[in-house]
Amino acid sequence: MPTLTLTDQQRELLDASVAAGEAADVAALVRLALAESTAGVVRRPLPVERGRARDWRRRVAFDAGDRRVERWRHRLEPGTGKAVEVRAGQILRIAQVEGNQCADLNAFSLDDYREVLHVGRTRTLHGIHPSQGDLLWSAPPRERAMMLVLTDTARLNDTLFPRCSANMYESMFGFAEHTNCADIQAEAQREYGLTPDDVHDSFNLFMGTRVNPDGTCEVVRQQTSPDDHVELLALMDLLVVPNVCGNDIFSTSNYALRPLDLLLFDAAASDLERVPPLREYATQRTPRDFLQPRIRTERTLSRDPGYVPRFPRTPVGLHRLEIDLDPHDTALFARLARTDLYGADDDAALRDLVLSWWVGSHA
Ligand SMILES: [Zn+2]
Repeated sequence: MPTLTLTDQQRELLDASVAAGEAADVAALVRLALAESTAGVVRRPLPVERGRARDWRRRVAFDAGDRRVERWRHRLEPGTGKAVEVRAGQILRIAQVEGNQCADLNAFSLDDYREVLHVGRTRTLHGIHPSQGDLLWSAPPRERAMMLVLTDTARLNDTLFPRCSANMYESMFGFAEHTNCADIQAEAQREYGLTPDDVHDSFNLFMGTRVNPDGTCEVVRQQTSPDDHVELLALMDLLVVPNVCGNDIFSTSNYALRPLDLLLFDAAASDLERVPPLREYATQRTPRDFLQPRIRTERTLSRDPGYVPRFPRTPVGLHRLEIDLDPHDTALFARLARTDLYGADDDAALRDLVLSWWVGSHA
C-alpha cells in the first residue's frame, strides 16, 4: 500500500477539495487524480474563495465623462526624465516624437513610496514583453495592480534588462560621465525627495529584446514611428517616472538620443470600462500588517537583541497517509509515476502526481 506524505498546507489543499465534495476522502481524491491523469483532466472551480471583488474605481476622484480631458503635457528632452503625479483614473501617455526612442519607467504609490513597481511579478504574469491589456504590479508584500497598459501601438516593451547606469558606461567603455537611466531617474525622483537608492528595476518602453537559445538576453534595434505611444491607466494614485534612455552607444534606441512627449489625461468612462475585473486579497499587505513597520533612517545594520523569529506556518508539519489502491489504480500509478525523477520513492512520485493534477485541474 503506497504512502502519501504531505505538509500541513498540502493536506489543507486536498481537504478543501474533499470538503467541496470533489471526492469522499483524500484516498478517493488520489484515485480521482490517477484516473484523470490517465483519461484527461476535468477542470473544476477552486474549492476555496479566491479574494473578493472590489471596484477599484472607488479610488477615482473625478467623474469620467464621454471624452478624455487633457491635464498636462511635457516634452522629455534627451538626457532627462520627469516625475509625474498620476491619480487613479488618469492616463499617462508616453509618446514618440521622432521614433525609435527607448524610455525607462519607475512607479511608486503616492501614499507610500515603499510600494513600487515590480518588474519581476509583471514578467511572471504577463511574459517578458507586457503589452496592451496587461497590468503592471507592485512588489510583494503589496502585489497590487498599479497600472493597466491601456494602449500600446508599438508592442515593444521589455522586462528583461535593468536600467543602464553610469558604472556600466565606465566599466565597459571608460566614460567617466555618460547619460544613463539610473542617474536620470535619480535626478527626476529627487523632485519628490527620493534618493538614488529608491530607483528600482525599470519597465522599459520601446525596447526590442529577445532571449537567445543559450539563455542570454539581447537588445535589438527597434522600429517605432513618430505616431507610436504607450498609454498607462493608473489604478491607484501614483508617482510615475519615465525617462529618455541615456544609451546612445548600443542599439537600444538605434544609436541616438531623441525626445519623447508625456501627456496626462483624465480618462473617459470608456477607458475605465476597459480595466479587467480586479480582486482584492488579504495578502496584499500594507505597513499595518508588518511586524516591523518603521522605515529605517540609520544606514548601518545592527542586530536586534530582542529578535525572536516568527516565520509563518513553522514548524512545517508532515502527515503520512496510507492510500489503499486496487490493482487497476496500482497499474495506473505504475504507468504514471515519474521514476526518472524519484526512482523507487513511490511516496514522492505519488505526491507529485496528486499535486500536479490538483493544480492543473483547478482553474
Ligand atoms: Zn537606459
